Amino acid sequence: MLIFKKIKDTTGKIQQFRKQGLKIGFVPTMGALHAGHISLIKTCKKQCDITVCSIFVNPTQFNDKSDYDKYPSTIERDMEMLNDAKCDVLFLPAVNEMYPEGFENKSKIDFGYLAKILEGEKRPGHFNGMAQVVEVLLRIVQPDKLFMGQKDYQQQLIVAQLIKKRKLKTELVVGATVREKDGLAMSSRNVRLDAASRKLAVEISKTLKETKAAIRQPKLSIAQIQEGGMIRLAKFKGIETEYFEIRNAETLKPVKDKLEKLVALTAVKIGGVRLIDNMLLN
Ligand code: AMP
Repeated sequence: MLIFKKIKDTTGKIQQFRKQGLKIGFVPTMGALHAGHISLIKTCKKQCDITVCSIFVNPTQFNDKSDYDKYPSTIERDMEMLNDAKCDVLFLPAVNEMYPEGFENKSKIDFGYLAKILEGEKRPGHFNGMAQVVEVLLRIVQPDKLFMGQKDYQQQLIVAQLIKKRKLKTELVVGATVREKDGLAMSSRNVRLDAASRKLAVEISKTLKETKAAIRQPKLSIAQIQEGGMIRLAKFKGIETEYFEIRNAETLKPVKDKLEKLVALTAVKIGGVRLIDNMLLN
């Protein structure tokens, strides 16, 4: 695996690949890699000739400084995992390589409603920072295909908007959420859960699964099912629910009709660790 810290080395090498007619795929990450990330690398390898991964913990997307400070870093292990997965290129920039002129986002895109709700409401500025870094990364790598996880549901909808609004020539491919055996969605933040919190965390995916089952019951309305999810989570002392919502899977607008494409999305705090998850319901 080639490892580059500098933008010009990365673009130079990728240009060479492109001149050879090779199809470039890109998997951006913040490191502390797990099987969820590696599944994206594997999908990328199947669909593209060259797989580029980036590891960059982007300061501008953290609205909570302590979350940024505590973000896990396992770079040696990450490199081993990427090597084993036969990733071709790792882009590993420093903060000043990505933001030589400071953090100011001069060309902010207005994502409207999509960026104001759920994660956008709970983490002000998060999506602007995320879109800022994804745009910089896409201009560096210029991939034919970009691979992102369904785990960050609202994020992939916003990135799809970013690609559209900036008229970028990349196709977004969304990979399914990889889960632990008990159903907990894999996340770099899971390592920060203590034993008791880790045990409780299984209730997130259990609640989502029960919600999915409840949708098939004709007598229950969407409002009742959504409330049922909130009530179920509230039963567990130690789980602090920020939101549990059933929304239209394409627009994330509130829904009334079960015939719409539905997604349940939730964010909770357990033992001081913020976790998000979601499930398509129909
Ligand atoms: P992160 O390093 O958390 O920023 O994630 C990098 C990419 O991996 C994003 O596109 C995430 O949506 C994706 N990802 C994170 N966790 C999972 C998971 N459990 N399954 C699949 N993809 C994931």
